[in-house]
Amino acid sequence: MKREKRLTRREKKEQDPTRAERLRHAAPHIHCVACGRHMEPEEFSGINPRGVYLTCDHGSRFPSCASCQVTAQYLIAEHDRTGQPIAKAGAWH
Ligand SMILES: [Zn+2]
Ligand SMILES: [Zn+2]
Ligand SMILES: [Zn+2]
Repeated sequence: MKREKRLTRREKKEQDPTRAERLRHAAPHIHCVACGRHMEPEEFSGINPRGVYLTCDHGSRFPSCASCQVTAQYLIAEHDRTGQPIAKAGAWH
């Protein structure tokens, strides 16, 4: 007797190739304002976070890599000085 074949993860993926993409779009998208790197929410917590939130004079919060903080602060200062939207780097993955 032939048993019902259970689908592997890969086969499920092949049946619904857009699922991963849809999930990715549903997740919050955080990108460093200075370099455009995609960041995960977990990066902002912990003892030594890789990501920080910087606040401008108007109280908007901007995500940045810890290593990009100086650049991000400069961009935010420019935004506060000129009143223009922050000149953030293009987002990439
Ligand atoms: Zn960055
Ligand atoms: Zn992203
Ligand atoms: Zn602002």
